Amino acid sequence: MPTEETFAYREVPVPEPGEGQVLVQTIYLSVDPYMRGRMSDQKSYVEPYQLNEVISGGIIGKVVESKSDRFHVGDKVVGMMGWQHYNAVDASEVRKVDDLIAPLSAYLSVLGMTGLTAYFGLLDIGQPKKGETVVVSGAAGAVGMVVGQIAKIQGARVVGIAGSDEKMDFLERELGFDRAINYKTADNLQKALEQACPDGVDVYFDNVGGPISDAVMNLLNDYARIPLCGAISSYNRTDGDLGPRVQTKLLKSRALIKAFIVGDYAHRFSEGIRDLAQWLSEGRLQYQETIVEGFENVPQAFFGLFKGENLGKQLVKISEP
Ligand code: NDP
Repeated sequence: MPTEETFAYREVPVPEPGEGQVLVQTIYLSVDPYMRGRMSDQKSYVEPYQLNEVISGGIIGKVVESKSDRFHVGDKVVGMMGWQHYNAVDASEVRKVDDLIAPLSAYLSVLGMTGLTAYFGLLDIGQPKKGETVVVSGAAGAVGMVVGQIAKIQGARVVGIAGSDEKMDFLERELGFDRAINYKTADNLQKALEQACPDGVDVYFDNVGGPISDAVMNLLNDYARIPLCGAISSYNRTDGDLGPRVQTKLLKSRALIKAFIVGDYAHRFSEGIRDLAQWLSEGRLQYQETIVEGFENVPQAFFGLFKGENLGKQLVKISEP
C-alpha cells in the first residue's frame, strides 16, 4: 500500500510554453487504481513511473497561455499531464472540452476514460442480451456504476457487488440495479450471490479479482462472458496475484475471459462518447463523483481508492474553473 512517504512535493518555476504549446492550469486531477500498477517496474502495457519524476494522469485544466493557434486563453482542455498546478504541453496532447454539454469533471469520469472502459468492456466483450444476468464487482466505483447502467439499458438484470451499505443504497435506489451485495458484511458471499442470481450469471464484469470473482464465477452459465477489466484486490499484494481458482467451473461453462485495456479501443472513442453523452442527456445514465479539494490531498485521494472511500469517480479539485 503506498503511503505519504511514497510521494514528495517539489516547488519549481511555472514552465514556459514553447512554440506550438499551451500552458494549462490544473482544475481537476484524476486518481485511478491503474496508477498503482505504474508504481511497479513489471512489464506492462504502459511504462512504469520513474523515480523522482512527476506522476502523470488524466487532468482537466484551462489554457492560461497559448503559443498554438489551436487553443485560446480560457479554453478548457483534457489530457494526460503531470500532477502539477501548471503543465506546458504540446497542443496535440490535449483535447478541448465543452462545459455546456456536461460539467467539466464528467470528462474525467462518465465521458472520460472510466466511462469508455465500461462501455467497450461491457458491450464489446460482455455483449449482454435482454433478460440475461450481469454481475459487476467494484460496482459503485467509476467504471462499475456505468457498467451496471449500460447493462440495464441493454435490458439485462443487474447485480452489483460493493463494499458498504451506502453504496448498496446508491446502486439499488439511485441507479436502478436489481440487487446489490455488500461483500464486506455478507455472512456468506457465495450464498448471497446465489440468491441474487437465481438464473446464474451470463456476464461478469470483473473489476476486482480475488475471492469475490471466485464466488461469481462459480455461478457462470454456459458460454458466459467475462470482461477482465481490473484486479484491484491484488494491486497491493506483495505475494503475487490471486488468479481465478475456479478453473473447472470455467471449463465446464465454456466461459470466455477476455482482458482488455481501454486504450485498445482508442479508434472507437468517439462512438463511445457519442452514446454515453446521448444516454446522459436522456437521463438514462447517472453518475456520481467524490471530489476532494486541494493539491496536498492528492495522495490521500489515491489511497482512498484501495480503501473504498470513493463513491463513483474519485477526483481532486485543484483550482476554480
Ligand atoms: P473505482 O472508482 O472502482 O475505485 C476503486 C474501488 O475498488 C474502491 O472504491 C473499492 O470499492 C474497490 N476495492 C478496493 N479494494 C478492493 C478489494 N480488495 N476488493 C474489492 N474491491 C476493492 O476505480 P475505477 O472504476 O477507476 O477502476 C475499477 C477497476 O477497473 C480497477 O481494477 C481498475 O484498475 C480497472 N480499470 C481498468 C481499465 C482498463 O482499461 N482495463 C481502465 C480503468 C480502470 P468497495 O467499497 O466496493 O470496496
